[in-house]
Amino acid sequence: MSQNILVLDEGTTSTRAMLFTPEGACIGTSQRELTQHYPQSGWVEHCPHEIWERTRDCAAEMIARAGGPERIAAIGITNQRETVVAWDKASGEPLTRAIVWQDRRTEPFCMALREAGHEAEVQARTGLLLDPYFSGTKMRWMLDNVPEVRAAAERGTLAFGTVESWLTFKLSGGAHITDASNASRTLLMDLAAPGFDAGLCDLIGVPMNALPQVTDMAGALAATESALFGRAIPITGLVGDQQAATIGQACLAPGETKATYGTGAFVLANRGSAIPRSTNRLLGTVLTQLGGERIYAIEGSVFVAGSLVQWLRDSLGIVEVASQTEELARSIPDSGGVVIVPALSGLGAPHWRAEARGVIAGLSFSSGKAQLARAALEAMAHQTYDLARAFAADGAEWQTLRIDGGMSANNWMAQDLADVLGVPVERPAFVETTALGAAMLAATGAGLYPALGSAAAAMRGQAMRFEPAMADAVRDERLARWQHALRAA
Ligand code: ADP
Repeated sequence: MSQNILVLDEGTTSTRAMLFTPEGACIGTSQRELTQHYPQSGWVEHCPHEIWERTRDCAAEMIARAGGPERIAAIGITNQRETVVAWDKASGEPLTRAIVWQDRRTEPFCMALREAGHEAEVQARTGLLLDPYFSGTKMRWMLDNVPEVRAAAERGTLAFGTVESWLTFKLSGGAHITDASNASRTLLMDLAAPGFDAGLCDLIGVPMNALPQVTDMAGALAATESALFGRAIPITGLVGDQQAATIGQACLAPGETKATYGTGAFVLANRGSAIPRSTNRLLGTVLTQLGGERIYAIEGSVFVAGSLVQWLRDSLGIVEVASQTEELARSIPDSGGVVIVPALSGLGAPHWRAEARGVIAGLSFSSGKAQLARAALEAMAHQTYDLARAFAADGAEWQTLRIDGGMSANNWMAQDLADVLGVPVERPAFVETTALGAAMLAATGAGLYPALGSAAAAMRGQAMRFEPAMADAVRDERLARWQHALRAA
């Protein structure tokens, strides 16, 4: 019996291995922290060795827990997207530290490309904006600034990849592939084309022969070297983390939408097989590629969600633990007119105002901890409402919203989201939707299910539903106050 699915979930602050049954039950987790390197303001780096070794160790632990490698049917990998690793194909060794998705060092290059008038074409072709967030300009930076990377490019042995690509290379002992969801975050792939694009690679300045081959997200993609875990285990699912969460929430039909509330908030709506064209500064991205067929999503993210609650806890000392915001919010009938605009690190979609800063409006002598905590939670619904309007303007109106992430545990916030958005909000009992989505893909790729839809139907658990119940007048007044405060941010 080799029926378990091993998921490797490589996040920003830690890497994990999780063991799933084919029915979607998580029966084991092993986790290791990842060291964050901040060599300069705005720079964030990871050590590729550490990513590999800690992920491998977590995997080995879960394989032992399962009872040996013959009990693992398949491996699925999901990862922090956009982070770039450079390594030498011949030696298999990294050439420099990984540049992490949050890193802003390529802003001058992005600005030069924007000023040269390239953004409209890049957006039309890739669905992305010319922002340091995406992988391509990070690759270019390494070529220009790391002599070892340049030398490997000249030798023809340079390999670039996002983290699922790096891990697959190390696990398999040499496969250089990337899945379409990760590839769609590089600025180097046209959403309409199966592989990387020569014109885009030229524009960004990345040699195509250093890039991995773009593959489906499920299937016989690679296999582990047998010496590594004692058996060649098939790698049958590869997927970027937000796409994985969208799949884990079973948003497989056009219009179905999920929102993940962690440090920040990420919203993705399934748009079916038509390439999304946002006119509201949302991103277009690949949600799935199976059998060469793509389904697309539009995506919007807000920078500050749970981190606002963390700020209330660590900088203001209003709560001792994040979950106390719930009882504080419930202890009063309203926020007493207090509105928080959580632009502590600028405003993301749909505003895209990097220079904006936070605002607390409407303070009076009756404002206290409870009002601030409530206003912080209310800000999540307000920010999400602005995204909902942008999605609707792009033709993707939400019928329900499926939520997950650490902050979604807050029942008061979940109800407030339903109230302000005016749509039902659903929260699954098992909120590790990113890992679950990777497990669904890997199970499909291993042939345990005939299609992703049947994997999702079998593996997705029960969800709790929050129905909208707020009077229109209350909602309108709140949104008016939010709009007013937003102008001051
Ligand atoms: P990430 O994956 O981005 O590290 P998580 O999904 O683990 O984040 O979510 C953690 C965030 O959610 C923290 O910023 C924390 O402040 C917030 N959070 C966790 N539980 C609650 C809660 N019950 N109420 C409000 N915020 C919460």
